Amino acid sequence: MKTKRVRFAPSPTGWLHVGGARTALFNWLFAKKHEGKLILRIEDTDVERSSEEYTDSIKEDLKWLGIKWDEYYRQSDRLEIYERYARKLVHEGKAYHCYCTEEELEERRKKAIEEGRPPVYDGRCRNLTEEEKKRFEDEGREPTIRFKLPEQQPHVVVPDEIKGDIEFDSLTTGDFVILKSDGTPSYNFACVLDDHLMEISFVLRAEDHLTNTAKQMFLYEALGFEQPKFGHLSMLLGPDKSKLSKRSGATSVREFRKNGYLPEAMVNHLALLGWSSKDQQEIFSREELIEKFSLDNIVDSPQVFDREKLDWFNGQYIKEVELERFVELATPFLEGSESVDEASLKELGDERLRRALDLVRPSVSKLSELVDNEDMAIFFEGLELTDEAEEVLSWEDSDRVLRAIVTRFSGMEELTPEEVSESVKETKEEIDTGYKQVYKPLRAAVTGKISGPEIKEVISILGPEKTVNRINSVL
Ligand code: GLU
Ligand code: ZN
Repeated sequence: MKTKRVRFAPSPTGWLHVGGARTALFNWLFAKKHEGKLILRIEDTDVERSSEEYTDSIKEDLKWLGIKWDEYYRQSDRLEIYERYARKLVHEGKAYHCYCTEEELEERRKKAIEEGRPPVYDGRCRNLTEEEKKRFEDEGREPTIRFKLPEQQPHVVVPDEIKGDIEFDSLTTGDFVILKSDGTPSYNFACVLDDHLMEISFVLRAEDHLTNTAKQMFLYEALGFEQPKFGHLSMLLGPDKSKLSKRSGATSVREFRKNGYLPEAMVNHLALLGWSSKDQQEIFSREELIEKFSLDNIVDSPQVFDREKLDWFNGQYIKEVELERFVELATPFLEGSESVDEASLKELGDERLRRALDLVRPSVSKLSELVDNEDMAIFFEGLELTDEAEEVLSWEDSDRVLRAIVTRFSGMEELTPEEVSESVKETKEEIDTGYKQVYKPLRAAVTGKISGPEIKEVISILGPEKTVNRINSVL
């Protein structure tokens, strides 16, 4: 059987959008599922809007998501190819030079709209004589090359592997430009040539490209190329059911990454936007996604990109990932933060940090929250007492309790949580008071607060020395 080849073809005119990331992910899943190849093709022929910086960032974000490509191309390296084919079409009478200027075209577009006609190119350069051409060239006009649409536009059918056949009665497009006057190709032209030359067997992209696909059908025909299969994914919407936009929050993969989402969570969330395993399962490993992915399970209805759901996924992954990996992911957030001072972090040390992160992670849904997380703050220096903590510390027995604890802990090397509990019990008996009278001042002195994670865990992580220091500074 022939190898299945799919592609992701972003234009580097901005950061990778979550919609683009979903398209990339679905293509990658398809390739993996069928042991095919994923081609990354950077569509950067629009020189003005494209940038190297965006190209790099797209590659970086794909890597972060774990989407690896097998082959890589940049359209700007291939300009000669597009030009060659455009000339070939002119030579065969399937395309022609158009000398109309931008201003002229704009004026005619306006007029058409005023008169209630579709604002499409009127084909006036289709049959220029040699003299007319010469005159335009002498005027210094730089021609574009336009594709000659069939005179009688038959109605177009786009066979779609997801949606079924989609019919277009008439395309409201005149003869369209395939090569601009600066020699760069238009999107549709470069896309068809590349999909053919790169032997793409299946084009899977978002449904806002449907009319492009219809236009592209004519190019396949004119170029004598066999068509690949097509599939169009329904659009991603914002929570208000309108097009996903910045208004309702982050839309680029980069922003989510900076805000402390795990790639696993992002991938899981994106996979379920337009695909479902048909049971209630929600958490999927990459391997499971690959195994279960199939075009039959693609859901053909608009999908709401729900940030709350993403937070939920992220929280799940934060709880579940291996501790080592969690520490690795979390550390840069703490190190890069202004609210966590460097000395504190250093003072805490790797082992305590590791245990502290494990203790607080159930209450975190984004890595960025760690920075201001109250439970995390317990482990850093410079704690201040809350009013409630001051109040607890002023209880009648508090001083005696804390002094007794200091005596017990002094000189110890480490403390397990069980040993902390044991000490609390013994202190209670020694002073002949209640549990509350021991636990509460202890927590207040060590953490500055009256509630938080289990105090025996906190003390075990901090260790006897730090604990004693904290209690002494309160005493
Ligand atoms: N460069 C196009 C885009 O970013 C690619 C569309 C396609 O997949 O053909 O939308
Ligand atoms: Zn013209």
